[in-house]
Amino acid sequence: MKEVSKRWLATDTNRSRRSYSKFLCPVCGQVVVKRRSGGLKAKTCSVHCKKQQSNPERVCYYNGYARIIKPKHPKAHNYMMKRSVVVAESKLGRYLEDGEVVHHTNGIKDDDRPENLEVMGISEHHRLHSRGINNKAAKLTTEQVLEIRGKYRPGIRHCDIAKEYGVCRSTISLVLNRKHWRYL
Ligand SMILES: [Zn+2]
Ligand SMILES: [Zn+2]
Repeated sequence: MKEVSKRWLATDTNRSRRSYSKFLCPVCGQVVVKRRSGGLKAKTCSVHCKKQQSNPERVCYYNGYARIIKPKHPKAHNYMMKRSVVVAESKLGRYLEDGEVVHHTNGIKDDDRPENLEVMGISEHHRLHSRGINNKAAKLTTEQVLEIRGKYRPGIRHCDIAKEYGVCRSTISLVLNRKHWRYL
């Protein structure tokens, strides 16, 4: 690996003359401290990066999310990280904070192109996923809501529309007053 610091780090104790140095891992891009002799000989920082280097396309899928090797990432689990998080972090130039999640704009969980990823708070993300027909309590479909709003004229009674769609009058009022389905 490439040695980062020119100056060797202090030997650990006086009983040995092992010198340590900082190295840059070409696979995970992280700076690691290793014994100088071993670090110069090694091509990567760890066995996990070595595996990744021998097969660059090495991606694991878990719950539909692509995961890649990032052994030194502070939030790595079993040396793996969600690829979406890694891509979003490199886009941001910092690590994600607690309470921040990555949302896939087009809904495809393993589409980790930077333009498809959006970092947002957990509550905002939850709201985004439970709106409209994703909300289990929804009585109407997107088409019906647009239809109701399109054909409503002053003078038409809410309860007549409600009967037509088989819902409660208050549901129609909430839709028409934009208390529900606000984003449409
Ligand atoms: Zn590495
Ligand atoms: Zn999402």
